[in-house]
Amino acid sequence: MRIGVLALQGGFIEHQKILESLKVNVQQVRLPSDLVGLQGLIIPGGESTTIGKLVKDFDLLDPLKEFSLEHAIWGTCAGSILLSHEVSRKQPLLDLMNIKIERNAFGRQVDSFEIDLNIPCLNRISKDTSAFHAIFIRAPLIKSVGEDVEILAKLPDGCIVAAQQTHWLATSFHPELTNDDRFHRYFLELIK
Ligand code: GLN
Repeated sequence: MRIGVLALQGGFIEHQKILESLKVNVQQVRLPSDLVGLQGLIIPGGESTTIGKLVKDFDLLDPLKEFSLEHAIWGTCAGSILLSHEVSRKQPLLDLMNIKIERNAFGRQVDSFEIDLNIPCLNRISKDTSAFHAIFIRAPLIKSVGEDVEILAKLPDGCIVAAQQTHWLATSFHPELTNDDRFHRYFLELIK
């Protein structure tokens, strides 16, 4: 299996390391031609305005949209913002998933937090039913989802922090910053 990690800005190396530990070949994607032969793509966390600007500057917007029609894409944190249909302010988006996002919904960098979440969908790929340690860094939240979107995880107060629409996946938190590879395995299952 060969998976791409959008490598314009942000935490792409951490995703690469987990994928490689799962024996997946990883391609760092910076140019449209890097998408050739890939079975899926991860858009990492970072700064969504910067990633969006670079996506435009590198002429990746249309190639990524075209790629998304046939291939699974997973956005973590800033990546989930790029997948969304609507954000509180105007910025380049891939506009794939029927979700509305509120950026920096939990406050500033110092308000970042970690919490154990129960994420039932992970039981589809793992017998491990323990909570998933979710790391939120100046994270967005998913304000609302369309009827075609499955909610995968919520905070105790009901805020949506992970969602799936067919072969597209969005998480507000950072599974790549833990040693728990269940979310990455869940994504690989989606691809298969
Ligand atoms: N605050 C960033 C944004 O709005 C996302 C932060 C992250 O990816 N950890 O783009």
